[in-house]
Amino acid sequence: MNNFEPVIGLEVHIQLNTETKIFCSCPNSFGDEPNTNICPVCVGLPGVLPVFNQRVLDLGIAVSLGLNCRIAKEFIFERKNYFYPDLPKDYQISQYMVPLGSDGFIEINSRKIKIKRVHMEEDAGKLIHTQNGSLVDFNRAGVPLLEIVSEPDIFSAQEAYQYLNELKLTIQYIGASSCDMEKGFLRCDANVSLRRQGDKELGVKVEVKNMNSFKAVRDALSYEIKRQANVLSKGGRIYQETRLWEENKQKTIVMRSKEEAHDYRYFPEPDLVRFFVSDSQIENAEQSLPELPPAKRKKFREFYKLREKDSEVLISNPKAAAFFEQACRNRDDFQNIANWVIGPLQEALNTSSIGFEEAKIKPADLLKIIDMVADGGLNNIAAKNVLAEVVNTGGDISEIVEKKNLRQVSDESSLEEFARQAIEESPKAVKDFYSGKENAIMFLVGVVMRKSKGRANPKIVKGVIERRLKNAQS
Ligand code: ADP
Ligand code: MG
Ligand code: ZN
Repeated sequence: MNNFEPVIGLEVHIQLNTETKIFCSCPNSFGDEPNTNICPVCVGLPGVLPVFNQRVLDLGIAVSLGLNCRIAKEFIFERKNYFYPDLPKDYQISQYMVPLGSDGFIEINSRKIKIKRVHMEEDAGKLIHTQNGSLVDFNRAGVPLLEIVSEPDIFSAQEAYQYLNELKLTIQYIGASSCDMEKGFLRCDANVSLRRQGDKELGVKVEVKNMNSFKAVRDALSYEIKRQANVLSKGGRIYQETRLWEENKQKTIVMRSKEEAHDYRYFPEPDLVRFFVSDSQIENAEQSLPELPPAKRKKFREFYKLREKDSEVLISNPKAAAFFEQACRNRDDFQNIANWVIGPLQEALNTSSIGFEEAKIKPADLLKIIDMVADGGLNNIAAKNVLAEVVNTGGDISEIVEKKNLRQVSDESSLEEFARQAIEESPKAVKDFYSGKENAIMFLVGVVMRKSKGRANPKIVKGVIERRLKNAQS
């Protein structure tokens, strides 16, 4: 194993979140009744003509620039010919000779992983296999895709995993796709070969398909690297083939060998014109790019001065990062705000199974809660209670606090009775306390917190109980 170096190249397809398909005006939407979003163009009836969706080009340019690619000043589309039941035209309109973007990179661990090409193409339909046979849904046929192909410039399964995360994040910040793998909005094929340590030439590669998460890609690559090392170290050879990842068996199996490889007979799409991209179009696109992860990281570390781990957690969720940054306007307690966003706010969202995008809470609401906790108006338990409500319903924080009767009780006289009851009901804790176990008092504080429905100020409660126990002793 140690004698071999793995070499990996990734082919990633992302579905662009345009309103309409790439060559017709059918809606690009997910989960609709099968075969409702189709027209003669996207099912390839004779005599129809494709019309290129400008929005696909805009997003394609934005993603290419975000991945540091050079943009082609002119390009055409080509037909990739093959037969498959989900492909109504028997060809896919794609880009072959000249991709929209080329020679880019993604930086990971201070190393630039080279991206070979970014090209636009249309998606195929989807087969649905049932007990009574297979059905085909053409809603997805003609949905715009970007294919992003890396150079064989990734050297471990973990690095492939990091590359994918960074790629996804970049596309999410640009807003070109949700990259939701469960919905097939991001798909990844992994190519991997081994070579002897120090060799310049690449070994024979195997392509692995059928992974449904980034973790699965990493697992499949780790498996494949071990498998190939095993074969090679016994003097065997690797055959160029396509293998499938079997998630439940955690292994790859042969799908097809090189002899069955396709000849796609690419040729220029005669129904579409040659397209040109002007310098000003590229400049405009560059200027409209949002702040991308590398710049965000720098800002979160150097300006907000967040701990690295917290910075990563926030940046890994563009909506959370945006919420955090809005909350930080006109404030300087950045790390404190980050703690609240990552901690109690995220917990409240998790409990309600909602994301930042659906949450009703506004940054100003969180700040109000933070300030009420700081000045003693709310304790932490009550703050969580308010958060749980406001993420779902929104609304005025002060009103919620009054309505739910959550304002923290800090005056001692109101807490005396709770403290008395707690001591009376907990003889064991009292005995422990007198026998020197100072911590037993926290049990009693807990009882008061429960009795006050979380409203008591725990610091004051502790003082009251302590005084009562000491007085009773003397
Ligand atoms: P193909 O024509 O078989 O699709 P490409 O040259 O287009 O091959 O490469 C497809 C993907 O495979 C790219 O991501 C590329 O980086 C990767 N790749 C190519 N050769 C190798 C190799 N020997 N080992 C690992 N990955 C490779
Ligand atoms: Mg390929
Ligand atoms: Zn259509």
